[in-house]
Amino acid sequence: MRTEWQGSYLDGKTASRQRAVIHLMQSGLQVTTENGKTVWWPYAEIRQTQGFYSEEQVRLERGGENPEAVVIPDAGFLADLHQLAPGTTARFHNPSHRRFRVQLTIFAALTVISVSGALYFWGIPAMAAFVAPLVPVSWEERFGQAVVEDFAPPEKRCTAASQTRAIDDIMKTLTAPLTKSPYRFHVIVVDGPLVNAFAVPGGYIVVFRGLLEQTKTPEELAGVLAHEIQHIVKRHTTRAMLQRASAGLLIAALTGDAGGAMTYGLKSAHTLGLLRYSRENEEEADRDGMKLLLEAGINPEGMIDFFETLKQKGVKVPAFLKYLSTHPATEDRIQKLKSLAEQSPHQSVKLLPNYDWKDIGKICEAAKP
Ligand SMILES: [Zn+2]
Repeated sequence: MRTEWQGSYLDGKTASRQRAVIHLMQSGLQVTTENGKTVWWPYAEIRQTQGFYSEEQVRLERGGENPEAVVIPDAGFLADLHQLAPGTTARFHNPSHRRFRVQLTIFAALTVISVSGALYFWGIPAMAAFVAPLVPVSWEERFGQAVVEDFAPPEKRCTAASQTRAIDDIMKTLTAPLTKSPYRFHVIVVDGPLVNAFAVPGGYIVVFRGLLEQTKTPEELAGVLAHEIQHIVKRHTTRAMLQRASAGLLIAALTGDAGGAMTYGLKSAHTLGLLRYSRENEEEADRDGMKLLLEAGINPEGMIDFFETLKQKGVKVPAFLKYLSTHPATEDRIQKLKSLAEQSPHQSVKLLPNYDWKDIGKICEAAKP
């Protein structure tokens, strides 16, 4: 087993890339650059963004907006990482695990050639924007299903009957105006304290128990769901996932390759909570989420109230509120929502009038399957 690997280091602030030696240690990586600078990366703070396939270099990132990065050309690095610290590095790709083969038809092979050419000229982010609207819904569904099954296997899901029914009722009212949408929506509740929720391509919305507990009314949850539904319908999620992925996923998506959907879906599950959308995408999800609430006859104040709650709590406990890091509850955002609600005369019917919303967090208390 090798504990020293050659690679490069990017500090996230400047464009320069420095040669570096990466030392594998028990609890993290020690990166020493050619200038003699040493940085310490605990495994818990590292995420893998490339190197899920044998032909790809390994890229690890650490930090938020402009992350630092380490690139290691030799994918053998991952196998040794797993051998040295199997417990703490389980979420990184393990090349010695299961291997999938993407079966390509002749048509797909031809597409590969043209897509590869386009990738060469434009790069993955630009191609993802181009490909996302062309991906078949059936592929998004299979991809989303694979992602959700890997991220939230049945034993992690919360399914207590009365709470599940309450959420289903909200979704029924909320999605009633979407008669033309090709998506079927599923809300999956996961047992965890994080205040977080995110959309998955194909119609899945993952909600953490922690977020449910922070909502004071069904209308507040409806606001969060309306926003996430827009990320799915407008394919922001599909685009963001394709952007973070590699050429292989783009090709699988474009050719509708179901095997590819599964393979790459599993790899993408781990980057789910880290997806960031552009400011335009967030504004669109807010705006059209609010519209959806109004069309469905749901009181839009709930969406605004929930962002107000996040804003207040966010000041005190920023790390705990994961939803904030992907959905900053800024004053500007709240003001925009308020003016949208004011501009549209609306009537709303109270959601779940006979349900005691305080119990919603108990959805995880029943025996899991
Ligand atoms: Zn969002």
